[in-house]
Amino acid sequence: MTTTTMATDPKYQTSLLTAQHSQGHIHLILGANPLAASRATQSLASGAKPILISSSSPTSQLHYAIEAHIAAGRLTHLPRPFEDTDLFTLGRPAVDGIVDAVFVTSARDPLAPHVSALCMRHRIPVNVVDSPALCSFSLLSVHVDGPLQIGVTTNGRGCKLASRIRREVAGGLPRGLGDACARLGDARRKVLEEVELDRDGEEEEEGGGGVDDSVEQGAGLNRLVTEADRKTRRIRWLAQVCEYWPLRRLAGVSDQDVEGILRSYESNVRGLSSSSSGDGGSPPGRRMGRVVLAGSGPGHPDLLTRATHKAIMAADLVLADKLVPAGVLDLIPRRTEVRIARKFPGNADQAQDELLETALAGVKEGKTVLRLKQGDPFVYGRGGEEVSFFRAHGVEVTVLPGITSSLSAPLFAGIPATQRDVADQVLICTGTGKKGKPPVPPEFVGSRTVVFLMALHRISGLVRELTTHLEEEGEEKERRKLWPVDTPCAVVERASCPDQRVIRTTLRYVAEAIEQEGSRPPGLLVVGRACEALYTPERGRFWVVEDGFKGLDLDLDLGLGVDGGERSGTTGGGMEKTGVLVA
Ligand code: SAH
Repeated sequence: MTTTTMATDPKYQTSLLTAQHSQGHIHLILGANPLAASRATQSLASGAKPILISSSSPTSQLHYAIEAHIAAGRLTHLPRPFEDTDLFTLGRPAVDGIVDAVFVTSARDPLAPHVSALCMRHRIPVNVVDSPALCSFSLLSVHVDGPLQIGVTTNGRGCKLASRIRREVAGGLPRGLGDACARLGDARRKVLEEVELDRDGEEEEEGGGGVDDSVEQGAGLNRLVTEADRKTRRIRWLAQVCEYWPLRRLAGVSDQDVEGILRSYESNVRGLSSSSSGDGGSPPGRRMGRVVLAGSGPGHPDLLTRATHKAIMAADLVLADKLVPAGVLDLIPRRTEVRIARKFPGNADQAQDELLETALAGVKEGKTVLRLKQGDPFVYGRGGEEVSFFRAHGVEVTVLPGITSSLSAPLFAGIPATQRDVADQVLICTGTGKKGKPPVPPEFVGSRTVVFLMALHRISGLVRELTTHLEEEGEEKERRKLWPVDTPCAVVERASCPDQRVIRTTLRYVAEAIEQEGSRPPGLLVVGRACEALYTPERGRFWVVEDGFKGLDLDLDLGLGVDGGERSGTTGGGMEKTGVLVA
């Protein structure tokens, strides 16, 4: 699984969590109790070859699971006392006979301190049950589902608690996620093999990495795909599927879906056109359906309007944009057909065409088609274009507004965009122009709050345009006013979602902050003094990261996270300050 950088509080020391590749390793297990049996089972599951040493239990009295492993020839049993030389002789020839790990399964084993000291001296990983001081590593409470493993540790604060948390985390996951990991992993491998991508180039980042799950989502996920890298489209699409599809939908990914992903963009074939082919004109006697174009708000399902909710319940076919949040998609009745747009930068036109054609086909079949868009449909949602398209085809369209991220994300970050005496205007812009060209940068106005959507993937360029004159602007022209590099700004990502993140900084450091913290799309940039209307920056800090969304549960708290610098990390699921760089 991908490790996300939630709060790393310097108050607590944490461990470096790793996944040991143990194929063929020799694990030495001391003891013959039930724990020894379970260690042997875990060791075998990881592909290692366990050797169990126990002198106390005669073979006839071994734990039944141990007996079964021995009988099946999976486990070597040495019925004798441990000897120091075992550490250096029982291992693989490839590592000069040194064993790969040692598990002491009884804390009362009088040999435990000695074995531990010996292992540590020779850098052999050692674990002694219930004895943190004697361990060089500890085992996690693990949930396993196919190739997916989720491990939890409280770093010595209690294994009962760890296993409770693990159960809770696992219980919240949709069924079938392990199979989905396997399927999508296979698909990724196939695509990579086919297109022979440069493995240490960008595609590792785009595709989510090969073996290392700790690589955060790089800022390049939403980089534009140009004609030149058409070959990489499928891998980009796969990365987008993994990033944006709701987990529930991902868990249900079928062979057919994977097949579709593999086939898509091979030759610019339209993958979604199955139901949209045809010659136009509704079948005789059938009434035309209609289109509802609705906004689904920034993320949290409570931010849907009642009108959009009604439209969701009434639709026969839902055509959702990629960014429509999972919590909203979860509201769609099971019986309703849902399609999610296959949009990614550089492919938006094609995905849009596919969706419109599908919508038209649905309407001709008499269906009520809901075009569900993120935020508000007329704020950078191509909503207007869609209305024109449907009108041109004689289709009736009802447009329902949504809460736009451009105004609600600043709010959820505690930024009053038009604070009196601070800002008297708000400008909503895109950071990416048509065909990927940068749009004209907005001029500096001290009392202006600027919200940039679709901008974070090219943050360095944007900051350069805002703060310096560009060569092509020419010397003689009346010069555009530049934004001072110390202008406060904030990156607000996944606003109103449980993993909302806010990075507060200035134009000087914002690109570096994103580079270091990674990106968590979708996100936007707010620039202007309003960013510091309710927030006082702490001296000597280049940027501050706040992780988590306080939620909209009115019973709990009406604060909505707008209380500036007073937040603490102690309110469950609330805001947490992290990742601070000191000057
Ligand atoms: N119609 C949408 C905007 C579509 S453009 C609206 O009104 O919100 C997509 C951009 O919106 C993203 O690139 C990102 O900049 C922004 N965005 C959408 N949802 C967001 C969210 N929950 N948090 C922060 N930014 C968001």
